Amino acid sequence: MDSQKTAVYNNLFERMIDSMTDFGNFDREEFVAILDEICEFFGISKGVTEFYESLSAEKEGKGETMIDYDNGRGEKVALYRRIVTPSMTVIKSTLFMPEDAEPLPEDEYRKLDLMLRAMLSFISRNRLGNLVEKLAFYDEDGYPNINYFTRHLELMNEKDLIRGNTTIQFNLRHFSLVNKEIGRSAGDIAMRRYFKTISSVIGHDGLICRVGGDNFAAIFKSDLLRSVLQVAEGFPIVYDDDNEKRIMISACVGVYVIPEDYVFENPGDILGKIFSTAHDAKLDLNGTVVYYNETSIKEKERKMHVRRFFKEALANGEFQAFYQPKVNIVTGEIVGAEALSRWVIDNKIVAPIEFIPVLEQNTDICSLDLYMLELVCKDIRRWLDAGKKVVRVSVNLSRKNLIDVDLIEHLLTIVDKYEIPHRYIEFELTETTTDVAFTDLKRIVTELRNKDISITVDDFGVGYSSLNLIREIPWDVLKLDKCFIPTEENYGITELIFRHVVAMAQAMGLECVAEGVETEDQIRILRDNDCLVAQGFYFDKPMPVKEFDKKLDGFRYECP
Ligand code: C2E
Ligand code: MG
Ligand code: MG
Repeated sequence: MDSQKTAVYNNLFERMIDSMTDFGNFDREEFVAILDEICEFFGISKGVTEFYESLSAEKEGKGETMIDYDNGRGEKVALYRRIVTPSMTVIKSTLFMPEDAEPLPEDEYRKLDLMLRAMLSFISRNRLGNLVEKLAFYDEDGYPNINYFTRHLELMNEKDLIRGNTTIQFNLRHFSLVNKEIGRSAGDIAMRRYFKTISSVIGHDGLICRVGGDNFAAIFKSDLLRSVLQVAEGFPIVYDDDNEKRIMISACVGVYVIPEDYVFENPGDILGKIFSTAHDAKLDLNGTVVYYNETSIKEKERKMHVRRFFKEALANGEFQAFYQPKVNIVTGEIVGAEALSRWVIDNKIVAPIEFIPVLEQNTDICSLDLYMLELVCKDIRRWLDAGKKVVRVSVNLSRKNLIDVDLIEHLLTIVDKYEIPHRYIEFELTETTTDVAFTDLKRIVTELRNKDISITVDDFGVGYSSLNLIREIPWDVLKLDKCFIPTEENYGITELIFRHVVAMAQAMGLECVAEGVETEDQIRILRDNDCLVAQGFYFDKPMPVKEFDKKLDGFRYECP
């Protein structure tokens, strides 16, 4: 090869290597143009390169043609190469020359061979990369998967394209029923068509992927939201070749409109937001679209936290009983107390409103109530042993406890373990609407009463007070909620009702306790109406047992 030809060769080689290794911007057309020049340079008339995913694929002839060049000038084999990669993929290439062409001189032959091997090695790597990519970024049915979505978000962020977009996650409604109705393979077709339709609305700037089963996630320009939702919410899909059979496919959708000031931290943040919003959408029986809401998510996280750590916290003794005195408003004496639970985490006191409603969603609340009873019994035992003047202490019992058929036994076992005289124990149950078995309630109240344990209707006046409830069930105490107690402002009719309810309760032999008493005025009204026991911030807030200990021996509050 003379020096001029060598220079041309060197230039071609360099350009070929350049175009192959500029990974981010591989330009196939440019690459093919260079290969054309190379063929021209060496007088190659035809070149065929094939790729096989495995040795057996090669045997069966199931390959993929990567390059197919033919200028129609001849078919004499000039060079043949076959490479088997370490991952057992095979790449083969054959170069041809015109029949009458002279064989290439030795040095040119070696140079052509070098170029061919470099190119084959590039193609096989590239192809392998695609294969790996296919495995990592697509699911078994060929839908882009969650990895694809995650990577897409990262790429968008790198180009600062995240803002101005909306992400959604959606779940096809009752898709298992759809599958049952039209069959699995028709179901697959319907799903694919649904997916394609949304894809086309989203366009090339966006992405939709399947995150598993019948759940999909998508990101797209926010101005497309309306159109996307219109489709996502549902439309009839033709699922047979004859264009005759249709089925309605619809979805519930969780939406997160990415705000203008959004700071991208990681894809997990966006995914977490749409996942939990979509979950809400799924639970929401009325609507189909739920928008992401910061506070509801925080609320959900908090609930999850309670659910997760409750049992451990109970075992670790993180729950304490705080005591709030019940006071005789004439003498100022403490005549009783209510035990209220507090969750103490790292010296921080968590109020019941933060955890009781969550625990009431399952039977965890029953464990807490029994635990509180045990704490109270321990304290009473200690007071009795120290010769203190003990008052009756009430423990709240969630209505959930009513489903425990051995409730009475469970309660008495604890009380009797500490040998507490039953008259010191009281249970507060919130008033019940008709949904809870009235007979269970009646049985439990009656049995406890027979055991000399007092039982209270808590929060009377909140919700649906039922006179039936006081007539049918033998309570000892009626605890009037603070919203029931008249104030200076709403005196008239409220006072009238209050006075008569108190009178009626007392006539029936029920003690009346007013709770949530905060002002002098309220105390005066209570006294005027002959409701003589009050509990409320006016006297004291619920306090730790150590403080309450000090109040037990004859402490008197000042009464107005
Ligand atoms: P509840 O049984 O009606 O308890 C009275 C609630 O009113 C207590 O709230 C108490 O701190 C609050 N309170 C007392 N005086 C005043 C006042 O003057 N003004 C105002 N605004 N509030 C007053 P807490 O301790 O936050 O308990 C809330 C509710 O949580 C309780 O209402 C009870 O239903 C439930 N709860 C607390 N501990 C337990 C428990 O161990 N088991 C069960 N099942 N429920 C509990
Ligand atoms: Mg109570
Ligand atoms: Mg109450």
